[in-house]
Amino acid sequence: MTAEGIVGEYLALKRESEADLLAMQMGDFYEFFHEDAVTVGQELDLKVSERSSGGKTYKMAGVPVDDLTPYVSGLVERGYRVAVADQHETENGHERSITRVVTPGTLLETTTEDAQYLAAIVEGGSEGRTDEDEYGLAFVDITTGQFHVTTVSEADSVLTECYRFTPTEVLPGPDVRGNDRLLERLHERVETNSTLHATAAFEPGRARHTVREQFGEIEASVGLENEAAIRAAGASLSYIEETGMGALAAVTRLQRYQADDHVELDATTQRNLELAETMTGSGKSLFETIDHTVTSAGGRLLKEWLTRPRRSRGELERRQACIAALCETAMVREELRELLENVSDLERLASRSVSGSADAHDLLRMRDTLALLPQVGERIERTNRLAGSPLSDIITRPDRTAAADLHAALEDALAEDPPQTLTQGGLIRKGFDDELDALIEEHEGATEWIETLAEREQNRHNIGRLTVDRNKTDGYYIQVPKSETANVPEEYEGIKTLKNSQRYVTDDLREHERDILRLEEQRGELEYELFEELRTQAAEQASLLQDVGRALAELDTLMGLAVHAVRHDWTQPTLTAPGPIDIETGRHPVVETQTEFVPNDLSMTEDWRFLVVTGPNMSGKSTYMRQTALIVLLAQIGSFIPAHSATIGLVDGIYTRVGALDELAQGRSTFMVEMQELSNILHSATEDSLVILDEVGRGTATYDGISIAWAATEYLHNQIKSKTLFATHYHELTDLADRLPGVHNVHMAAEDRDGDVTFLWTIDDGPADRSYGVHVAELASVPEPVVDRARTVLRRLREDKAINVRGGESTGDDTQQVVFDLGSGQFRRTSADGGDDASLDPDKKAVLEALEDINVNEESPVDLMGKVKHWQEQLEE
Ligand code: ADP
Ligand code: MG
Repeated sequence: MTAEGIVGEYLALKRESEADLLAMQMGDFYEFFHEDAVTVGQELDLKVSERSSGGKTYKMAGVPVDDLTPYVSGLVERGYRVAVADQHETENGHERSITRVVTPGTLLETTTEDAQYLAAIVEGGSEGRTDEDEYGLAFVDITTGQFHVTTVSEADSVLTECYRFTPTEVLPGPDVRGNDRLLERLHERVETNSTLHATAAFEPGRARHTVREQFGEIEASVGLENEAAIRAAGASLSYIEETGMGALAAVTRLQRYQADDHVELDATTQRNLELAETMTGSGKSLFETIDHTVTSAGGRLLKEWLTRPRRSRGELERRQACIAALCETAMVREELRELLENVSDLERLASRSVSGSADAHDLLRMRDTLALLPQVGERIERTNRLAGSPLSDIITRPDRTAAADLHAALEDALAEDPPQTLTQGGLIRKGFDDELDALIEEHEGATEWIETLAEREQNRHNIGRLTVDRNKTDGYYIQVPKSETANVPEEYEGIKTLKNSQRYVTDDLREHERDILRLEEQRGELEYELFEELRTQAAEQASLLQDVGRALAELDTLMGLAVHAVRHDWTQPTLTAPGPIDIETGRHPVVETQTEFVPNDLSMTEDWRFLVVTGPNMSGKSTYMRQTALIVLLAQIGSFIPAHSATIGLVDGIYTRVGALDELAQGRSTFMVEMQELSNILHSATEDSLVILDEVGRGTATYDGISIAWAATEYLHNQIKSKTLFATHYHELTDLADRLPGVHNVHMAAEDRDGDVTFLWTIDDGPADRSYGVHVAELASVPEPVVDRARTVLRRLREDKAINVRGGESTGDDTQQVVFDLGSGQFRRTSADGGDDASLDPDKKAVLEALEDINVNEESPVDLMGKVKHWQEQLEE
């Protein structure tokens, strides 16, 4: 085919695929052409060459067939969808067709340990129904087989769920594609790719069919009657099927979860609390701080727990009991951790087996991990403290007999030290298969004949340095140094002359070579066949492998939490139904690992549900509030917590907002965003929620800001009744404590020792001393008149009195007055001149009246002068 023909074929295939890039097989290489070549060259540092043919030039870049996988993974992890066109032999030459499309959500050979979710988002139930605002969501990770489906009723919850799973690829259903606002917000929060999957795949009938094909008629048993949920589930499955990665069977079960069993944790909160990553990229996230897992699946599970805290006390107390038991059994715990260090990622290995990409080393890892299961089980069972805890349920949950069977099958079949390739034999152990054993014996006989040939020939012909070797071009040969060629017998047939030696073959050698090649091929084929059977056997047990993987991951995660609890002296909180939160000497889980931390108490009840937190800058307000949120969150993943003791009334949601000013410093937010977020809290929070407001209202001019803060406080206190911590620099808010029964003031204590101000990091009752800032100004040598004046202003503000605003250039009575009106919660400005007679003293008033009454034409100039003089005197008094 001409070069032009090939490029034409490439472009045709590319159009057919809708992928971003196409890798087309040409013999031993996969090639990218044109812009694709340029892109690949830039992204992966691949050499791009320029060819010309028929007067036209085109660019191309290629990778060897065996090396394609890492290149494709690299491109897909950068967000590209890559189609792969393979070459097949046909009667008249060969053909090419697209065999698979690798996309960010369906990449099997991922290089990270993180979960890799593909999401489908569907809006609305069936046509004609009114539940239009019902969204169906499906999240599937083909690398682990995890498949979660749910429904939510609001767009914000769609974002919340997406943020929990951070999908690498999203399939918006046909009814969501027009919702630019939703998709835009999604992309703002989650680094993800949107793919338009066929509309038909989202149709209810079709989607239901796809779900049934995969799982049977499971709708009722998993509570999947909701049409939006089925449509999302079906569409995501069909997409996986269509991309042709062959991993669909790894999705062994569908988990319908109730978004409302989880603690509502919206996107902003997850980011603010720095659960999985920090906002600035520096410092440590909560995950990084508390993660002591030793397996990748354990780390994944911990992340999952952190982003999906629970409300069901039973499950949380079960985890607590496991951690408590592990805390008390240090020796066994360390033994268990050592065992787990050798555990491979069974969920991922299951997916690789299903898709047929697992190699012999993968199956060896699977074998070794399965071998650990009984050892782990035995350690737990013979340790009373652990055997009596729910850990024993975790470890007995997987079918251990089936696991032992699979382990035995792998152990019987696999050779100990297989090669990296699957086609050259060496995969299967001797004694596993009679036919193979016969082949191996014959093969070994033939190889032995060759291996001993050199020695025999040396003796026979008296050629001391004769050797026998093999290479690709010459096959097997006998090599004799030139100095000894005189002794070479006649039957040696020369095939090559080198500088210092001569190469020969003999008929016998040729015959044995043919035998060996034939045997190698037969052995390679047979072993590959046997290996495939074994891999299929493993693939059929995908669900079992996932169970075992999950159980070990759970054990690892719980042990990691126990390790952290022991190292940092964390304790088990008492969990109760929604109600009071009581924390005795609580600490910030991340900050306590970085500095000498001063612990603080917190107590919130219905009567004490709204705390206004005041204190100077950098005195620890934000830390105190975040630590509260994090302690509650940790309690609701079942973890121990950084506190001496605590009772946590389980919350249904945690909401945090940081005022736009703080966020602006990080170049992230605008006042509009701050208000949208506040609005979301006021819509979503309930009586059972924990709300943290940090300097909210700060992103705008004072009057607006304080009014909004004031109104939000009243609403949260009166209507929502959530537990709220509000750090503010608006001191006026502290007066609310006198007006609203549930509002109380607390402040961060500071101490002034001989002019040195120290923050004590402790929380005290009551509002912060308002003159504190003025004091600091004084310490900083701000000019005395300014400090004095500030004191006066402050005193008058506090006494709720008007302050004269001093003008710049002008003097005298040209003044304005400012009043802070507690009743309205607003500042009021008044002008001193004109109208407001009440503020004039009687003398001035008299002068003005006299002036008004005078008739200039009737008075003599002397009298007028006298009167003016009199007025002046009057005013001077
Ligand atoms: P604010 O919000 O009042 O401006 P922050 O909460 O941001 O203050 O705290 C400022 C710094 O003080 C934090 O970075 C932290 O290192 C330190 N800090 C806060 N609380 C404590 C504490 N309880 N013990 C020790 N250091 C603390
Ligand atoms: Mg702060």
